[in-house]
Amino acid sequence: MYDNIKLKPCPFCGVVPEIQDFVDGTRDMNALPGFDVKLSYGIGCENEKCTCHPWTGDDSPTPQAAAEAWNRRAKDE
Ligand SMILES: [Zn+2]
Repeated sequence: MYDNIKLKPCPFCGVVPEIQDFVDGTRDMNALPGFDVKLSYGIGCENEKCTCHPWTGDDSPTPQAAAEAWNRRAKDE
């Protein structure tokens, strides 16, 4: 979905995560963004075998900002 954004693998399990969209703070894929909803983005490891499940939080205003937050975190192993 965001092919132009490079994400580093999870520092704990090595799986590359996906960017998640949030509408008004919930991860509802059926919700259509309207004029009065707040879209935000977050990235977390969803590998069920991961020991840590690092998570950026869901408050990045753009997918790029979420990617930066994730990659910053992925770097300090
Ligand atoms: Zn992981």
